[in-house]
Amino acid sequence: MIGGGHHGLVAAAVLADAGWDVCLLEATDVLGGAVRSAELHPGFTADLFSAFYPLSAASPVLRALDLPGHGLGWAHAPAVLAHPVRPDGAPAAVLHRDRERTAADLGPRDGEAWLRLCAQWDAVGDAVIRSIFTTFPPVRGPVQLLRRIGTADALRLARFLALPVRRMGEELFAGERARMLLAGNAGHADIPPDAPGSGVFGWMLAMLGQQHGFPVPVGGAGELAAALARRAARRVPSCARGSASSGSTCAAAAPWPCTPPPAAPSAPAVR
Ligand SMILES: Cc1cc2nc3c(=O)[nH]c(=O)nc-3n(C[C@H](O)[C@H](O)[C@H](O)COP(=O)(O)OP(=O)(O)OC[C@H]3O[C@@H](n4cnc5c(N)ncnc54)[C@H](O)[C@@H]3O)c2cc1C
Repeated sequence: MIGGGHHGLVAAAVLADAGWDVCLLEATDVLGGAVRSAELHPGFTADLFSAFYPLSAASPVLRALDLPGHGLGWAHAPAVLAHPVRPDGAPAAVLHRDRERTAADLGPRDGEAWLRLCAQWDAVGDAVIRSIFTTFPPVRGPVQLLRRIGTADALRLARFLALPVRRMGEELFAGERARMLLAGNAGHADIPPDAPGSGVFGWMLAMLGQQHGFPVPVGGAGELAAALARRAARRVPSCARGSASSGSTCAAAAPWPCTPPPAAPSAPAVR
């Protein structure tokens, strides 16, 4: 496995579980890639890149790795997220893990529309997640979806998922606050709000946030990498420091201390 980032660690663990003889090759001193934290100021741990992981919480692959069993605790903020609508102090749009509470803040019309969107997620969300997170080519998820909702609804869904988030928000909601919940989440994908594809990401992240929260690892992002490394190390005995691009191999690279850092001592799971 070339690269001991988040994906490399997951892939190494899954391949080793399937009986493959895996060697992990990482170019830097630290496992985790962009899932990493450091003490930038004494006494304060800061995440250097990524920080919150709704997709990890939803991923069937990650769940199957039982990371809490390898020292990972997840923490949740009281509300999932909030987006200020304007700088003039108008109330922010707030996403809660309770959909009724999210809807109640959006007013009667948009609240109803929000709950309809949630019902749509209930019907198709697991198939969409399955399409994204399980083995390539993604066949079983779309087939499951077609069986469940039929061709006509599948075509309507395909059109909906292709919408730019600005258009999606305008079609669904009358007010800015609900639109902002989609648009703010779409922003995480770095796709412009007028470009196709931004809508599906905003919709998916908003719905995942409501269903699973936007959990952060207790002790910082590095604790997610550490738990992944501990999980991988269970069956991946071969771990080396070196760069595949400069010709390093597991046999030739300097020995890597495969043992990952211990979990932070105070890492209780917070639900
Ligand atoms: C600023 C920032 C913020 C982000 N925020 C979030 C967030 O909040 N939530 C979220 O879910 N995602 C977020 N992401 C995305 C997330 O961090 C990435 O999706 C994830 O880190 C990708 O993992 P990876 O293993 O594919 O790659 P990387 O994390 O990039 O890891 C690649 C690893 O491979 C090693 N490597 C590279 N080339 C070689 C080589 N030739 N030989 C040996 N080793 C090599 C690297 O040193 C590195 O350790 C963010 C990303 C960035 C940059």
